[in-house]
Amino acid sequence: MTHPKALIADIQRFSLHDGPGIRTTVFFKGCPLNCAWCHNPECISFAPETLFYPDRCVGCGGCAEGCFSDAKVLCGKEYTPDELMEEIRRDLSYYGEDGGVTFSGGEPLGQRDFLLEMLLRCRKEGIRTAVETSLYIFDEEVFRNTDLILADLKIWDDGLHRSFTGVSVEPIKENFLRLGALSTPVRGATPVIPEIDQGIEEISRFLYGIENVREYVLLPYHPIGTKKAEALGKKQRVFSVPTKEFMKEIQRNAFIR
Ligand code: SF4
Ligand code: SF4
Repeated sequence: MTHPKALIADIQRFSLHDGPGIRTTVFFKGCPLNCAWCHNPECISFAPETLFYPDRCVGCGGCAEGCFSDAKVLCGKEYTPDELMEEIRRDLSYYGEDGGVTFSGGEPLGQRDFLLEMLLRCRKEGIRTAVETSLYIFDEEVFRNTDLILADLKIWDDGLHRSFTGVSVEPIKENFLRLGALSTPVRGATPVIPEIDQGIEEISRFLYGIENVREYVLLPYHPIGTKKAEALGKKQRVFSVPTKEFMKEIQRNAFIR
């Protein structure tokens, strides 16, 4: 039987922010959204790409043999399920009670057959999984076979959502409601960007009404993606980093379990 391959942007070990415990995060390449603040702009295209950091280039002229100074970095490597399982198994010793693997991106559901294969293999081996998704795509089989869904609702207003992410928010809201019919726990999140009227009160009220959304978190924006976007030859807008006071104020008005 042939198994699907996937294009993976990166594998990060000892992740502490991609779900409970210590995790291995697998970043899939490709996303149907194009968020103006994306932390991982190298994960938006479904094709391999080269990032170029001119400040690291020593002008050695050896590009054809591969860059030794990380000035040119190829993003996107194909993995078979066996190869990726091998990478995951290397980290088993530190998962402990809560940790495991988070499939993130990009949008892991953009390569769903491979994702499902990995979820089934992890479950068979007793490895807990989380899927971090834009929820623009709904896939019941995938969502039933993971232990946790990490999903954002970024902006309430459809016009604003379209202009800052490139797609309508309506399918995402609908998919959150469909998730409510499953028993898989969900952590909802909103990246907080002070310049955008995101409607966080409405978002939090909406998510509060969905029983399996066990947690809702507000994540302060950080311009972490701008350097990577530049290295891809793209320009990413820089927003303001919310202050502690700003975060406290919006938290005060949000419905949080
Ligand atoms: S190999 Fe790397 S450091 Fe050398 S010229 Fe090419 S990009 Fe620059
Ligand atoms: S959904 Fe996530 S990965 Fe996709 S463009 Fe937006 S921030 Fe980036």
